Amino acid sequence: MRIGIDLGGTKIEGIAIDENGVERQRLRVPTPKGSYAAVVQAITSLVADIEKAYGEKGSVGVGIPGAISPATGLVKNANTVELIGHPLDKDLSRALDREVRVANDANCFVLSEATDGAGAGGQVVFGVIVGTGVGGGIVVDGRLLTGAHAIAGEWGHNPLAWPRDDERPGHPCFCGRPGCNESFLAGPSLARDHRLATGQDLKAQEIAERAEGGDPQAIATMVRYEDRLARALAVIINVLDPDFVVLGGGVSNIDRLYREVPLVLPKYVFSDKVTTPIVKAKFGDSSGVRGAAWLWPKR
Ligand SMILES: [Zn+2]
Repeated sequence: MRIGIDLGGTKIEGIAIDENGVERQRLRVPTPKGSYAAVVQAITSLVADIEKAYGEKGSVGVGIPGAISPATGLVKNANTVELIGHPLDKDLSRALDREVRVANDANCFVLSEATDGAGAGGQVVFGVIVGTGVGGGIVVDGRLLTGAHAIAGEWGHNPLAWPRDDERPGHPCFCGRPGCNESFLAGPSLARDHRLATGQDLKAQEIAERAEGGDPQAIATMVRYEDRLARALAVIINVLDPDFVVLGGGVSNIDRLYREVPLVLPKYVFSDKVTTPIVKAKFGDSSGVRGAAWLWPKR
C-alpha cells in the first residue's frame, strides 16, 4: 500500500492506493494553524488513521506547497508559512518511523499524471498547473526531475516569450519582476485581461463559456490567452521536447484550450511539424495526492 498526503493551506488530504493505483482509502482533516509541531502531528495521525482503516502499513509520500531546499534540507518557498525553515521530511520520518518522501505539490501532480494519468507512457512529461498561480514540473522515465535548486519545471516566473508592444513591460508580479508567465496565464490574470479590454468583471471559466456561446469580446480574450499559452509552452517544447504536456488547475477545465493551443504552437516551436499532445489531467484535483503516493514508484 502507498499512502499519499497532500498538505494544503486549509486541509490535509490523505489517500491509500494499491499496487495498481486503485484508491482504497481517503481521509481529510483541517490544516492546523500557527504551529509546525501541530502540522507534523496532524500528518502523523492521518497516516495512522489510514493504516488502521486499511489494516496494513504503507510507504508515505507528502506533497507540500513549497520545496525542500537541497542546499539546507529545510522547507522553502512555502505559502503554508508554518513549514518554512523546518526539515519536514526528517521530522516526519522520525515521527512515522520510516523514510518519508516530501516533494512540491506541482511536482506530485506531474508524477501522478505521468505514472497512470493523461501522460502515462510518455518518456518526458511536462505538467502545468494553471490556477490562481502557475506552476509546473517535469517527469523523465517515471521519475521526478527535481533539479539542483528544487525548481525544475517552475516556468511561472519566466517572462512571457515574444512579447508584443502592448505586453511590455507587463504586469507587476509578487516575485519582483514584471511580465511573468503567471501574470498573463493564471486564472485571475485571464480575468484581468478581459476586464481591461472590455470593462466586464468575469471569472476565467465564465469568459470561456461566453466565448463558446459566440460572444466576440470573450472570443478575442480567449484568442489572446491561447496565443500567450502557446508562446509560453513553445519555450518549454524547444528545450525539453516532451511527449506530453498535461494541464491541471482551474484553467485546465476550459475545453477549448485543447482544441486551439495545438493550432497556434507551430507558429512558435522550432520544428517543421509539432505534434506535442496538450492533454487535460486525468485525475483532476486528486492528482496531487496520488502523485504524493507515487513518490514511492512501482517496482
Ligand atoms: Zn513572477
